[in-house]
Amino acid sequence: MKNTIAICPGSFDPVTVGHLDIIKRAAGMFNKVIVVVMTNASKHPKFTAEERVRMISIAAADIPNVTVESYDGLLADYAALKGAGAIVKGLRAMSDFEYEFQMALTNKKLNPNVETVFLTTNVEYMYLSSSMVKEIASMGADISDFVPEQIHDIIVERLTSERK
Ligand code: ADP
Repeated sequence: MKNTIAICPGSFDPVTVGHLDIIKRAAGMFNKVIVVVMTNASKHPKFTAEERVRMISIAAADIPNVTVESYDGLLADYAALKGAGAIVKGLRAMSDFEYEFQMALTNKKLNPNVETVFLTTNVEYMYLSSSMVKEIASMGADISDFVPEQIHDIIVERLTSERK
Protein backbone atom coordinates (compact mmCIF):
# COMPACT_ATOMS: atom_id res chain seq x y z
CA MET A 1 0.00 0.00 0.00
CA LYS A 2 2.98 2.25 0.61
CA ASN A 3 3.50 2.92 -3.09
CA THR A 4 -0.10 3.76 -3.69
CA ILE A 5 -1.63 7.18 -4.18
CA ALA A 6 -4.84 7.42 -2.15
CA ILE A 7 -7.71 9.83 -2.50
CA CYS A 8 -9.89 11.05 0.38
CA PRO A 9 -13.02 12.49 -1.25
CA GLY A 10 -15.85 14.37 0.40
CA SER A 11 -17.81 17.56 0.51
CA PHE A 12 -15.99 18.79 3.65
CA ASP A 13 -18.56 21.55 4.19
CA PRO A 14 -16.73 22.25 6.53
CA VAL A 15 -13.92 19.81 7.43
CA THR A 16 -14.32 18.36 10.96
CA VAL A 17 -11.99 16.59 13.39
CA GLY A 18 -13.66 13.36 12.22
CA HIS A 19 -12.54 14.01 8.64
CA LEU A 20 -9.07 15.05 9.79
CA ASP A 21 -8.71 11.81 11.75
CA ILE A 22 -9.44 9.79 8.58
CA ILE A 23 -7.02 11.95 6.54
CA LYS A 24 -4.21 11.47 9.13
CA ARG A 25 -4.75 7.73 9.29
CA ALA A 26 -4.76 7.48 5.48
CA ALA A 27 -1.51 9.48 5.39
CA GLY A 28 0.04 6.85 7.67
CA MET A 29 -1.01 4.04 5.34
CA PHE A 30 -0.25 5.44 1.87
CA ASN A 31 2.77 7.31 0.54
CA LYS A 32 0.66 10.10 -0.93
CA VAL A 33 -2.85 11.26 -0.05
CA ILE A 34 -4.90 13.68 -2.11
CA VAL A 35 -7.88 15.15 -0.28
CA VAL A 36 -10.40 16.17 -2.90
CA VAL A 37 -13.35 18.46 -2.36
CA MET A 38 -16.03 17.08 -4.67
CA THR A 39 -17.96 20.11 -5.82
CA ASN A 40 -20.74 18.25 -7.59
CA ALA A 41 -21.69 15.99 -4.68
CA SER A 42 -23.07 18.58 -2.31
CA LYS A 43 -25.85 20.59 -3.88
CA HIS A 44 -26.09 23.58 -1.55
CA PRO A 45 -22.77 23.96 0.22
CA LYS A 46 -22.36 26.71 2.82
CA PHE A 47 -18.70 27.20 1.93
CA THR A 48 -17.29 27.71 -1.57
CA ALA A 49 -14.95 25.08 -3.01
CA GLU A 50 -12.04 27.52 -2.54
CA GLU A 51 -12.93 28.06 1.13
CA ARG A 52 -13.22 24.32 1.74
CA VAL A 53 -9.86 23.61 0.04
CA ARG A 54 -8.23 26.40 2.04
CA MET A 55 -9.62 25.19 5.38
CA ILE A 56 -8.45 21.60 4.76
CA SER A 57 -5.02 22.88 3.66
CA ILE A 58 -4.66 24.83 6.91
CA ALA A 59 -5.89 21.93 9.07
CA ALA A 60 -3.63 19.38 7.33
CA ALA A 61 -0.60 21.65 6.89
CA ASP A 62 1.54 19.57 9.27
CA ILE A 63 0.97 16.30 7.38
CA PRO A 64 3.73 16.26 4.72
CA ASN A 65 2.27 13.71 2.29
CA VAL A 66 -1.19 15.31 1.99
CA THR A 67 -2.28 17.68 -0.78
CA VAL A 68 -5.70 19.24 -1.26
CA GLU A 69 -7.61 19.89 -4.48
CA SER A 70 -11.15 20.26 -5.73
CA TYR A 71 -12.88 18.45 -8.60
CA ASP A 72 -16.12 18.91 -10.41
CA GLY A 73 -16.71 15.53 -11.99
CA LEU A 74 -16.77 11.80 -11.41
CA LEU A 75 -14.57 10.42 -8.65
CA ALA A 76 -13.68 7.39 -10.81
CA ASP A 77 -12.36 9.74 -13.52
CA TYR A 78 -10.45 11.82 -10.99
CA ALA A 79 -8.80 8.66 -9.60
CA ALA A 80 -7.73 7.65 -13.14
CA LEU A 81 -6.42 11.16 -13.81
CA LYS A 82 -4.26 11.04 -10.67
CA GLY A 83 -3.14 7.41 -11.08
CA ALA A 84 -4.68 6.65 -7.67
CA GLY A 85 -4.96 3.07 -6.47
CA ALA A 86 -7.21 3.67 -3.47
CA ILE A 87 -10.19 5.73 -2.37
CA VAL A 88 -10.26 6.06 1.41
CA LYS A 89 -13.58 6.67 3.15
CA GLY A 90 -14.59 6.85 6.78
CA LEU A 91 -17.48 4.72 7.98
CA ARG A 92 -19.47 6.03 10.92
CA ALA A 93 -22.47 3.79 11.36
CA MET A 94 -24.88 1.58 9.53
CA SER A 95 -26.48 4.69 8.09
CA ASP A 96 -23.30 5.40 6.08
CA PHE A 97 -22.95 1.81 4.97
CA GLU A 98 -25.60 1.33 2.31
CA TYR A 99 -24.72 4.48 0.38
CA GLU A 100 -20.96 3.95 0.68
CA PHE A 101 -21.29 0.30 -0.39
CA GLN A 102 -23.24 1.33 -3.48
CA MET A 103 -20.71 4.08 -4.31
CA ALA A 104 -17.77 1.69 -3.87
CA LEU A 105 -19.31 -0.87 -6.23
CA THR A 106 -20.14 1.83 -8.78
CA ASN A 107 -16.62 3.27 -8.65
CA LYS A 108 -15.12 -0.21 -9.05
CA LYS A 109 -17.25 -0.73 -12.16
CA LEU A 110 -16.26 2.67 -13.60
CA ASN A 111 -12.58 2.34 -12.69
CA PRO A 112 -11.45 -1.27 -11.95
CA ASN A 113 -7.94 -0.04 -11.02
CA VAL A 114 -9.06 1.62 -7.82
CA GLU A 115 -9.94 -0.04 -4.51
CA THR A 116 -12.22 1.59 -1.96
CA VAL A 117 -10.80 1.26 1.55
CA PHE A 118 -13.06 1.91 4.56
CA LEU A 119 -11.60 3.12 7.82
CA THR A 120 -13.76 2.70 10.89
CA THR A 121 -14.54 6.00 12.53
CA ASN A 122 -12.76 6.86 15.72
CA VAL A 123 -15.40 6.13 18.36
CA GLU A 124 -14.96 9.66 19.72
CA TYR A 125 -16.15 11.12 16.42
CA MET A 126 -18.79 8.66 15.36
CA TYR A 127 -21.66 11.11 15.89
CA LEU A 128 -19.92 13.97 14.13
CA SER A 129 -20.98 15.36 10.76
CA SER A 130 -20.54 18.62 8.85
CA SER A 131 -24.30 19.17 8.89
CA MET A 132 -24.37 18.93 12.68
CA VAL A 133 -21.52 21.44 12.95
CA LYS A 134 -23.31 23.90 10.62
CA GLU A 135 -26.59 23.54 12.44
CA ILE A 136 -25.31 24.08 15.95
CA ALA A 137 -22.76 26.78 15.05
CA SER A 138 -25.41 28.84 13.31
CA MET A 139 -27.38 28.74 16.57
CA GLY A 140 -24.41 29.96 18.58
CA ALA A 141 -23.22 26.67 20.19
CA ASP A 142 -19.55 26.01 20.95
CA ILE A 143 -18.04 23.87 18.16
CA SER A 144 -14.44 23.85 19.42
CA ASP A 145 -14.50 20.07 20.06
CA PHE A 146 -15.75 19.37 16.53
CA VAL A 147 -13.52 21.32 14.13
CA PRO A 148 -9.74 21.66 13.79
CA GLU A 149 -8.48 24.40 16.10
CA GLN A 150 -6.65 26.35 13.36
CA ILE A 151 -9.85 26.94 11.37
CA HIS A 152 -12.33 27.26 14.24
CA ASP A 153 -12.60 31.05 14.00
CA ILE A 154 -13.01 31.07 10.20
CA ILE A 155 -15.91 28.60 10.49
CA VAL A 156 -17.62 30.38 13.38
CA GLU A 157 -17.34 33.76 11.71
CA ARG A 158 -18.83 32.48 8.45
CA LEU A 159 -21.63 30.50 10.06
CA THR A 160 -22.72 33.13 12.54
CA SER A 161 -22.48 36.13 10.19
CA GLU A 162 -25.88 35.23 8.70
CA ARG A 163 -27.54 35.80 12.06
CA LYS A 164 -26.30 39.36 12.46
P1 ADP B 1 -20.34 14.61 5.83
O1 ADP B 1 -21.20 13.39 5.91
O2 ADP B 1 -19.77 15.00 7.17
O3 ADP B 1 -20.91 15.74 5.05
P2 ADP B 1 -18.41 14.22 3.66
O4 ADP B 1 -19.23 13.96 2.47
O5 ADP B 1 -17.62 15.47 3.64
O6 ADP B 1 -19.13 14.14 5.05
O7 ADP B 1 -17.52 12.97 3.98
C1 ADP B 1 -16.28 12.63 3.47
C2 ADP B 1 -15.86 11.31 4.08
O8 ADP B 1 -15.58 11.48 5.47
C3 ADP B 1 -16.90 10.20 4.01
O9 ADP B 1 -16.22 8.99 3.76
C4 ADP B 1 -17.50 10.17 5.39
O10 ADP B 1 -18.00 8.90 5.72
C5 ADP B 1 -16.28 10.51 6.23
N1 ADP B 1 -16.62 11.08 7.51
C6 ADP B 1 -17.34 12.19 7.75
N2 ADP B 1 -17.44 12.41 9.08
C7 ADP B 1 -16.76 11.40 9.68
C8 ADP B 1 -16.51 11.05 11.04
N3 ADP B 1 -16.99 11.77 12.05
N4 ADP B 1 -15.76 9.93 11.28
C9 ADP B 1 -15.30 9.19 10.25
N5 ADP B 1 -15.51 9.47 8.96
C10 ADP B 1 -16.23 10.55 8.68
